[in-house]
Amino acid sequence: MGIYKIAMDKCDGSPYCPVVRVCEAQAVEPTQVVSEAGLGFSMKYQINRNVCLGCGKCALVCPRQAVYPEG
Ligand code: SF4
Repeated sequence: MGIYKIAMDKCDGSPYCPVVRVCEAQAVEPTQVVSEAGLGFSMKYQINRNVCLGCGKCALVCPRQAVYPEG
């Protein structure tokens, strides 16, 4: 199994994100990224590749189809 990644342009950083809750490995972590306009920061999620088990559950529940398998 490979690991999964989150497309930053699709992630809305919702505090109710089901991707965070479904991950049994707690691999989904919040991160600050520069906003698209280059002004300030916005909250997104990323997957810690050192923790991800590659189970793929996160990709099934993301309402924005932001999660995809790497490679
Ligand atoms: S593939 Fe599985 S272990 Fe990896 S981030 Fe998604 S839910 Fe968590």
